[in-house]
Amino acid sequence: MGNLTGKTALVTGASRGIGRAIAEKLGYAGALVAVHYATGADAAAEVAESIEKDGGRAFTVKAELGVPGDVDVLFEGLERGLKERTGATDLDILVNNAGVMAMGAPEEVTPEMFDRMMAVNAKAPFFIVQRALSVMPDGGRIINVSSGLTRVASPDQVTYGMSKGALEQIALHFSRHLGSRRITVNSVAPGSTDNGSALFQIPEVRETLSQLSTFGEVAEPAAIADVVAFLASEDARWITGAFIDASGGTLLG
Ligand code: NDP
Repeated sequence: MGNLTGKTALVTGASRGIGRAIAEKLGYAGALVAVHYATGADAAAEVAESIEKDGGRAFTVKAELGVPGDVDVLFEGLERGLKERTGATDLDILVNNAGVMAMGAPEEVTPEMFDRMMAVNAKAPFFIVQRALSVMPDGGRIINVSSGLTRVASPDQVTYGMSKGALEQIALHFSRHLGSRRITVNSVAPGSTDNGSALFQIPEVRETLSQLSTFGEVAEPAAIADVVAFLASEDARWITGAFIDASGGTLLG
């Protein structure tokens, strides 16, 4: 029996990359997992199937984030799925993982690009947390996937860094707000992680990104998922409001 048996979890952006690994890890640990996606219906279904094949329980939820009504759509699907399977809508573990990244000279950023970045990476997670609190029992877990880029300069990713900086504020303020409910709120900051995208298959790019880590490699998504699963567990009950550097030493300088 896994250490999350009897728990329910929502992982946003779980159709691929880091989110997929997190969903699978939580599923193997026994949680009933809501595998959220925006466009990757088949990929999300595959994630849910892989969890169920291993004896876990999962279902998919579609919602585009960063658009009006996003949180309503997400929670309609989430609560319906939870109710069908558990008879209730309790959500024990929320992982805000979905995010968008963009690169480009700061001079080229338009107000529309800026707004989109903030809407998906910061505004949506805030309102997902706000909504989740009405269905989260005492002792719940909120984990936000940030980025090491809030700690190192990267001018071509200034808006991305800003959005993740805003995201990290959720852990600081909500951990104080929710202490009496024993709900922990933390940020996990990966460094370069092979999310399966074409970028990581280009040898020179991969080599450059690898050298950012003190281990000389890019991370596999499972390395980040293991950290998230720990924070979701009972063993991490005394960690809240924290910034967890999961960058493989990228932030050592
Ligand atoms: P991917 O680009 O591989 O996957 C992104 C996921 O988020 C997909 O499931 C996608 O859904 C979903 N998503 C994207 N935009 C939206 C949206 N508007 N509405 C709803 N869902 C959306 O991401 P990674 O695995 O690379 O990254 C996961 C998280 O980790 C992100 O927050 C990222 O910023 C962070 N991170 C990643 C690093 C890396 O090197 N990979 C490094 C540091 C942080 P779908 O495909 O179904 O549309």
